[in-house]
This record gives sequence, C-alpha cells and structure tokens, in this order.
Amino acid sequence: MDLYSGHINRLIDELAALPGIGAKSAQRLAFHMINMPREKVERLAKTMVDARENVRYCKECYTLTDQELCPVCSNRKRDHNTIMVVENSRDLAAYEKTGKYEGVYHVLHGAISPMLGIGPNDIRLKELMARLEGDVDEVIVATNSSLEGETTAMYIGKLIKPTGIRVTRIASGVPVGGDLEYIDEVTLLRALEGRTEL
Ligand code: ZN
Repeated sequence: MDLYSGHINRLIDELAALPGIGAKSAQRLAFHMINMPREKVERLAKTMVDARENVRYCKECYTLTDQELCPVCSNRKRDHNTIMVVENSRDLAAYEKTGKYEGVYHVLHGAISPMLGIGPNDIRLKELMARLEGDVDEVIVATNSSLEGETTAMYIGKLIKPTGIRVTRIASGVPVGGDLEYIDEVTLLRALEGRTEL
C-alpha cells in the first residue's frame, strides 16, 4: 500500500539516494520541502542546477572551482614548487583552513582501492605526473590514513622516486581510517610538520 502520493515517494527516493541521507532523513526533508514557499523551492532547485552547470575542475590542480584556475593555483604568492596531494576537494579545504600551508595542491578525486576496483588510472595520477615535468621541489602525499589512502601513498612514492623529486608522506598523527576533513587544524599542521620521506 502506498502511504504517500507518488510525487512525495519520488522525492523521498531521490533524496534517500544522496550520500549520508537515510530513509528517515529523506522523509523529513521531503515533507519540509512540500511545506516550503514555492519561491524557496525554486531557488533551491535552481541553485543545484547552477552549481552542477558552472562548477568545473581547476585545469592545474583539479579541485572543484568556478574559474579556469582555482584561487590557490592563480595566487602567485603561493609556492608553486611544492605540491600537496589530497584525495578530494574537502581535504584541500581542511588544509586551507589552517592558513599555514603555502604550497599548491593536487586533487586525486579518489584513492586506489583494489577491493572497489579503483585502479591508478581511475584517479588523477597521470595529471599529477604531467605536472612533475615542470619545476617541482617536493610532493607531499596527504592521502587519508585508510588502507586505500596508504596504498595510494605507496604507489605515488614508487612512481615519483625515480624522478629524483623529493616525495614525503604526512605523519600519522592522523588517526587510522580518519578522514582529513574531520581532523582539527592543530593535528593537520603537526602531521604536515612531521612528514617523512617516502
Ligand atoms: Zn587549482
């Protein structure tokens, strides 16, 4: 038996398909939206479509941005010879929040995971290697300390070592399995300062 109208059911299904939204939250959000003024719902829908249409990858570091180059890459005051490799744009934002890192980034958009069938070609590794043909002094691997993050770090280390470019790994002050974005700034900075050669 269908408890709700088809429209509400469809809305609940769409919301429940989003990451981190369970069936109960989806219901709550759906009913909230039904009761919102029409203009607010239209603004929300338009904001989502606009973001989807206008956000793109920075042509240098591949983070999500509105411009051809993200604010970090277009900032000439940043140290463009030091590249920190992170798994996603949220991790980049976490390090940016510390305000202490002066280099630039490279966003992989994922990590190597044999279990999930994600290989080196499925993340932005080729793009990283292409950047190393320029002037680069150090690559700091700041992938998460999960199994996937460590696997990715080891792989990157092996790939870069032969080029002679210094490659380091942030210290494991970061708890195992911890997502960088949830870790406080002090811990992030300590992990950066305590980085070791890969
Ligand atoms: Zn960038």
